[in-house]
Amino acid sequence: VRIGGQAVVLIAGPCTVEGLAMLEETGRAARAAGAVMLRGGAFKPRSSPYSFQGLGSQGLAYLARVRAQAGLPVVTEVMAPEQVELVMRYADMLQIGARNMQNYSLLREVGRTRRPVLLKRGMSASIDEWLEAAEYLLAQGNTQVVLCERGIRTFETATRFTLDLSAIPVLRQRTHLPVIVDPSHASGQRHLVGPLALAAVAVGADGIIVETHPQPTSALCDGAQSLDLDQLAGLRDAMARVAGAVGRTMHDPVSAESLPALLGPQISEGGGCQ
Ligand code: PEP
Ligand code: MN
Repeated sequence: VRIGGQAVVLIAGPCTVEGLAMLEETGRAARAAGAVMLRGGAFKPRSSPYSFQGLGSQGLAYLARVRAQAGLPVVTEVMAPEQVELVMRYADMLQIGARNMQNYSLLREVGRTRRPVLLKRGMSASIDEWLEAAEYLLAQGNTQVVLCERGIRTFETATRFTLDLSAIPVLRQRTHLPVIVDPSHASGQRHLVGPLALAAVAVGADGIIVETHPQPTSALCDGAQSLDLDQLAGLRDAMARVAGAVGRTMHDPVSAESLPALLGPQISEGGGCQ
C-alpha cells in the first residue's frame, strides 16, 4: 500500500477487535468495499479504567488471521514501549493514538523499528507539537510516518471533537509526510462520517480511516460513530468522485499474495502468547 502518492486510501475496521466472527465479517466487507487496509484495536486506550480494554494478544491473533483471509494489511495501536515487539509481529503498521502522541519513550521505541507508523494527532496538540512528535520517529531513522488528523478539542459540543480540516493544507506546506483523516473519532456520530470523509478528500487528505462494525448498536466501543457494513460499501465510490474532482484517484485493491510474512509466532486461539 502506498500512502501519500496520487491515490487516496480507504482504511476500515472496527474500533476494537471484539471477537473472531465480527472481525472476519468486517474484513470481508472492508475488502469488498475497496478498503486497502484493515484497522482494529487489540490494546485500547479507554478513558475509563472500567471500560473494555481490548482483547490484547488474542486480538492480535484474530487480526493476523483476518489479515490473511481478507488479504488486507493491518494497522493496530501500540500503547507502550514494551508492547512494540509483540505488536510488530502481527501488524503491518503501528498506530500511535492521540493520547500517546507525546509519549516520547513510545515514539523513540517505535522510531527504532522500520515498520510504518500512523501517528494520530493529540486532541490538544498544535500542528507544531504534532510535527515535533513525528520528528521523534524520524530522528530514530523510521521514515515511514503517516500523520492522522482525528479532531481536536474545542468549545464545540455538537461533535465529539472538531475536525481540523485546515490542518491538511497547512501540513501540505510544512511537511512531506502523508496525512490521512479519521472522521469517526472526530465526529462521534455515524451520519457525519461520510460528509467529513468527502470534505477531507476534497481538501487534500491522502486517505481516510473509518470505524466500521457489523452491528454498530451493539459494539463494545464507539458504536455511535461506527458505520454499518452497508454504509461502508458506498463510501469508496463517493470518495472516488471527490478524488476525481481534485485530480486524484483511489488506491487499487492490494493483491493478497503480495502481503509480506510477519514474524509470528502465532498466538494460540486461547489467547496466550507463545
Ligand atoms: C483509535 O483509532 O482506535 C483511537 C483510539 O483513536 P484516537 O487515538 O484518535 O482517539
Ligand atoms: Mn474508536
